[in-house]
Amino acid sequence: MIIIMDPRASEEKVESVQEEIKAIGFRPFMNPGVERKVIAVLGELDVRKADLVEHFQAMPGVVRVELISDLWKLASRSYHPENTIVTIGDIKVGADEIIVAAGPCSVESERQTIELAHQVKAAGAKVFRGGAFKPRTSPYAFQGLGEKGLKILAKARKETGLPIVTEVMDTHEVDLVCKYADVLQIGARNMQNFALLKKVGSVRRPVLLKRGLGSKVKDLLMSAEYIISEGNQNVILCERGITTFEDSTRNTTDISAIPVLKNWTHLPVVLDPSHATGHWQYVASVAKAAVAGGADGLLLEVHNDPAHAMSDGPQSLKPEKFADLMRQLSRVAQAVDRLV
Ligand code: PEP
Ligand code: MN
Repeated sequence: MIIIMDPRASEEKVESVQEEIKAIGFRPFMNPGVERKVIAVLGELDVRKADLVEHFQAMPGVVRVELISDLWKLASRSYHPENTIVTIGDIKVGADEIIVAAGPCSVESERQTIELAHQVKAAGAKVFRGGAFKPRTSPYAFQGLGEKGLKILAKARKETGLPIVTEVMDTHEVDLVCKYADVLQIGARNMQNFALLKKVGSVRRPVLLKRGLGSKVKDLLMSAEYIISEGNQNVILCERGITTFEDSTRNTTDISAIPVLKNWTHLPVVLDPSHATGHWQYVASVAKAAVAGGADGLLLEVHNDPAHAMSDGPQSLKPEKFADLMRQLSRVAQAVDRLV
């Protein structure tokens, strides 16, 4: 339920509505980024819905009370009709420009990372990606360089000016990763790690939330709701392919998740064609399809020596191929009135 206040309503009137919401056992939520005076009522409204609408409708300063039927309230378009633009420094995700984040799957060494950061920047990437904490299927596989990797990423940012997106896997590492990262990545495997979602919701750093391997679009939005309801509305959603019976690609790209998400939520949507396909040969086609289909950005794996990459080599583009793709993307973007 949302309560739309008169824009001229006094602070006292807004406060008394908030106090009333608390008094009857719900949680008031005001979106600090929004000009309109809209108070969301969070909690399970159940059978009391109709009474509550009438009750709040009668309070001074209230213009209208609306019920939001979606299970994701704060993430829904009904609550927030305009697109949310997530800012990373002076970069805007969700505006006209399609933002490309590129870099290696894992940070492997300082030399590899810095070189790649310069290369992806020269090709037009606006954000640098690289994992320091790696969620690997096997406990014997390379687990990432940890804080040492974060320090290398910070150095790459210092040298190139590119902001950093990197994964955080554990609630205990959120503060550490926040010291170095501009965007916190929640990996597919952690999409429903609710403690982690709450923790990244309690900071103000933008969050790149990846769709789980076996999760519905609806589940992705419920996970975004966990983050926003803790106070952090800087959430970027990422489609990265889902597990299906099809095994010609590593995952199945759910390209229609893009228009569905754009319809259901105000949050920016990006696509990761590297994990979605698992093969570098298919990455460019799917990347172009995503841009044509309305994605606000892409997350791409690029490696200077994919054959020797410590993770995800087969799906990583070489820097020259990445530069080619960026040139093509700019033409696709133009065709849909966007720019790269
Ligand atoms: C990654 O971005 O390297 C990654 C591990 O992605 P996902 O969580 O989508 O598998
Ligand atoms: Mn990867």
